[in-house]
Amino acid sequence: MAELTRTIKYEADRVKGFGRELMSVPGCEDLQSCIQCGTCSGVCPLSIYMDYSPRQVMALTRSDFKNEVLRSHTIWLCASCYACTVECPRQIRITDIMYELKQRAIHEGIYVKNFPIPVLAKEFYTMSRKYGRITENILAAFMFLKTDWLAAIGMWKLGLGLFRRGRFSLWFHAIKRKDELNRMLATVDNLSIDELKDERKKASKAT
Ligand code: SF4
Ligand code: SF4
Repeated sequence: MAELTRTIKYEADRVKGFGRELMSVPGCEDLQSCIQCGTCSGVCPLSIYMDYSPRQVMALTRSDFKNEVLRSHTIWLCASCYACTVECPRQIRITDIMYELKQRAIHEGIYVKNFPIPVLAKEFYTMSRKYGRITENILAAFMFLKTDWLAAIGMWKLGLGLFRRGRFSLWFHAIKRKDELNRMLATVDNLSIDELKDERKKASKAT
């Protein structure tokens, strides 16, 4: 039986404080001044494929609809072209807000699970964290296995061709001094959210 989905949003769907908290992140503060003009949606080359337009994502985020934005395809379809950010009449850094939403979706594990882009981002993070670098074909294999393994079977010819030319690695590549990388990442992990915000403020002032 077809599943019915409610499209109207209720007050109870809001996660109070989400919008305010996101707007406290350096680079995202100006979201408060969005006038819902729709310019961002108009200039976005990918908005026709998105479930929520960039304008809607801005409105939903500001209004605390956390689950709707973090579970949306839109944040993952955003190609970071910055067209919306350049054209926004209120100088809102829409692309950076999209990045912030992606990070939160990964961190909280509430992204569309069989959608390749967030799965790829998560696997990329895990592999770079563990080995200090990426082995591209293994990364692609993980992505296919976790989203659409039948598509991987359909690509066997490409895989064989890469293997014959020595471009298909069967083992993970790793950096030599992983301990140094781990120490650096552990330092970042141990910073509180407020300390991380301070660090980002300092970095954005320096640029
Ligand atoms: S272009 Fe800027 S002001 Fe207009 S809807 Fe988009 S974010 Fe809001
Ligand atoms: S940065 Fe993302 S949301 Fe903005 S116009 Fe480009 S693809 Fe669309």
